[in-house]
Amino acid sequence: MMSSAEIKIHQCECKVCKAGSDPEITQRHQQINLFLSRLNEPQRRWYTGLMSQQSDGPSDRQLSMITGLDEKTIRRGRHELEAGLADLPYDRQRREGGGRPRAEKKTRR
Ligand SMILES: [Zn+2]
Repeated sequence: MMSSAEIKIHQCECKVCKAGSDPEITQRHQQINLFLSRLNEPQRRWYTGLMSQQSDGPSDRQLSMITGLDEKTIRRGRHELEAGLADLPYDRQRREGGGRPRAEKKTRR
């Protein structure tokens, strides 16, 4: 298991964050990277692929700078999603001790 100290959070490399010109965008990008840091590798590219599908969302190139993933990886995630993750059985998603079983349901208030 990874401890929280070992989790690296990618620093966004987009223009806005580098220039520090828009704290709101920087915060959003930091939150994206914080979220991604808790996912395993396939989940990261699927989520980024998902973001890339939004018509008003960032381009693959921008997403690549924001997340540190390859544009190729982002495209791959998008294609895998489009294909219904057909070639990716459940077992393979959880190798390398990335995630813990998400069996328990929390009751919501
Ligand atoms: Zn940014």
